[in-house]
Amino acid sequence: MRRFAAKTLHISGERPVISFSFDDVPDSALYNGATILEKYGLRGTFYIAGQLTGISEPGRKLISEAGIAELAERGHEIGCHTYSHPNIATLNGAQLQNEIDQNHSFLSRILGKHWGAAGSQLNFAYPYNAVSYFAYRRMAKNYRSCRAGENRINRGATCLQMLFGMEIGRPDEDVVQLKAEIDAVKAQPGWLIFFTHDISETPTPYGCTPAAFEKLVQYAVQSGCEILTVNEALDRYISADAA
Ligand SMILES: [Zn+2]
Repeated sequence: MRRFAAKTLHISGERPVISFSFDDVPDSALYNGATILEKYGLRGTFYIAGQLTGISEPGRKLISEAGIAELAERGHEIGCHTYSHPNIATLNGAQLQNEIDQNHSFLSRILGKHWGAAGSQLNFAYPYNAVSYFAYRRMAKNYRSCRAGENRINRGATCLQMLFGMEIGRPDEDVVQLKAEIDAVKAQPGWLIFFTHDISETPTPYGCTPAAFEKLVQYAVQSGCEILTVNEALDRYISADAA
């Protein structure tokens, strides 16, 4: 039960860590995002909001139930992103708990045999990166970690309910600029958690093209940083802390 007691993670060590994560999740994050990561022997973290499954929105289609199961089968981490994707700062405690419980039941139904391991070590990403400090206690009870945005690298004493994320978004020239963030985490080790949405030839402003994504992944691999899922990175930092 240590994970509930330790709300602060100490991010240290010589070797920097990079994670790639996807929110919502669009189906192109599976077809293109996961496939590109796998080409380099890597895995990502996919934060699913159950109620979005299978729907079509302007410029993107959301992943199907079968697609979520496939991600887990292919060794990717499945995380939570609430059930209906609200700004949690607008919810009362009962409403938030309902979102958490609904997404738990959704994922346990979809993931079947993969739920056993995942269910006890779920990680969460805040919809709209909107953090509610009032929810910290409840989030800590239900999730191993919670990721927000802020476009910052995690270093030193880090709140597990407020992991910083770095956005990968259009235009592609901006994605190429993110190489500088990889240089930065290499120069001063920490944990760089990228997040994005669709990986498509016609991306929304919240995603990028497969070519730009692959360039960034390649650069990360060449940097020598350790590339881990969010849950694997937590294992690494927590065991280092205990040593
Ligand atoms: Zn979202």
